Amino acid sequence: MPAAAGPGTGSGGGYPGGVTFPVVGMVGGGQLARMTHEAGIPLGIRFKLLSDTPQDSAAQVVSDVVIGDYRDLETLRAFARGCDVITFDHEHVPTEHLRALEADGIPVRPGPDALVHAQDKGVMRARLDEIGAPSPRHRIVSDPDDVAAFAAEGDGFPVILKTVRGGYDGKGVWFVRSVEDAAAPFLAGVPVLAEEKVDYVRELAANIVRSPHGQAVAYPVVESVQVDGVCDTVIAPAPHLSEELAGEAQALALKIAAELGVTGHLAVELFETTDGRILVNELAMRPHNSGHWTQDGAVTSQFANHVRAVLDLPLGDPRPRAPWTVMANVLGGDYPDMYQAYLHCMARDPQLKIHMYGKDVKPGRKVGHVNTFGDDLEDVLERARHAAGYLRGTITE
Ligand code: ADP
Repeated sequence: MPAAAGPGTGSGGGYPGGVTFPVVGMVGGGQLARMTHEAGIPLGIRFKLLSDTPQDSAAQVVSDVVIGDYRDLETLRAFARGCDVITFDHEHVPTEHLRALEADGIPVRPGPDALVHAQDKGVMRARLDEIGAPSPRHRIVSDPDDVAAFAAEGDGFPVILKTVRGGYDGKGVWFVRSVEDAAAPFLAGVPVLAEEKVDYVRELAANIVRSPHGQAVAYPVVESVQVDGVCDTVIAPAPHLSEELAGEAQALALKIAAELGVTGHLAVELFETTDGRILVNELAMRPHNSGHWTQDGAVTSQFANHVRAVLDLPLGDPRPRAPWTVMANVLGGDYPDMYQAYLHCMARDPQLKIHMYGKDVKPGRKVGHVNTFGDDLEDVLERARHAAGYLRGTITE
């Protein structure tokens, strides 16, 4: 019988009786790390966390935590020594540090050559062009006059400007209507990418998981409803999406993962255009908000499959368990005591699944999400939105 796949050197496993399990090193202590840790528990996978503070979402629940700065190479090296593989809760670890860890012999998944495409939107666009993946019209621009030239090369203003690094949840993205509007993005001193403003009917996400030996699974394509630049609701599968476009989106995500050498979870955020095409908006190489529905709505969650992938274990079935699953993010409101709301939410909907991140409630901050599932989309949506609104305090009955 062949040996089990995966590193499994058990350098920090240390269960009594000589049984060892691999140690997954997670860089970043946010909710994605917390939920990935949760998914590893039934498999007996050991977790080690590098977190900024002991209060971070995952640091509250993981037993083996190192508090330190992921931007410092020696901190990363010391952390990695007790791990069989390194993976991430975010995409901010400098590429050269990841190369140094690989040179030290630690598997890094996804590796630096893949991850750079999720770190730098300029690099991502250039590579997507090379592999023939559809993007909005785009180019790097040097100053406001160059933005005006870019606009004139297409349909004129408005255009979208993005800093190539450091953006999230709409920060680092500008909707620019005139050359006078175009100065702000250049102030940060980071290269700026200009994109045509896409006329889209909605945003979709094609989520896949790929392992180092090349196995890959594709989740159903979902619709991601954004409010004020932040993901509000995810509907799985995307309602009324033609089988043809859904298949195209999944094939595109699988192709991007294979071409870029992605290991672990890849979210491909897409625009569905008014004329029925899909265009790539951006890539995330880690578990992603658009995949949270899989915790309760798929046979194998994105988190469980991410753990399997980074350990090069066979991947689990990505198929849905119910005709419809809806995820609604719970944002902080003016009402700090969300636990009070559990009584109402749980009594109203015994099928409701609540996932809280252990974060302090601040207005607009993602502090948790809920999942609902069932046969009737209207009902499933209503239950998710009601619970998220009630937890936030925007719905009171
Ligand atoms: P972030 O890195 O902050 O998630 P995104 O690139 O996803 O940034 O952009 C944030 C939002 O801005 C998107 O969800 C979308 O609503 C809008 N957006 C981004 N690029 C374009 C574009 N080319 N055309 C139209 N809207 C866009």
